Amino acid sequence: MRSKIKKCRNCDLYTLKENCPICGAPTHQTKPARFSPEDRYGRYRRALRQESE
Ligand SMILES: [Zn+2]
Repeated sequence: MRSKIKKCRNCDLYTLKENCPICGAPTHQTKPARFSPEDRYGRYRRALRQESE
């Protein structure tokens, strides 16, 4: 199940609703977060470990 996290630009609040529960303004979908290099290497290392075991 995909989570569609949205954000109110006015309140800087994350919500799943179409409208902000605080100010009622329409929320906007958040852009996918970029993976940091550290996280990518962490994943890579974990994958390697799984294969070797
Ligand atoms: Zn708001």
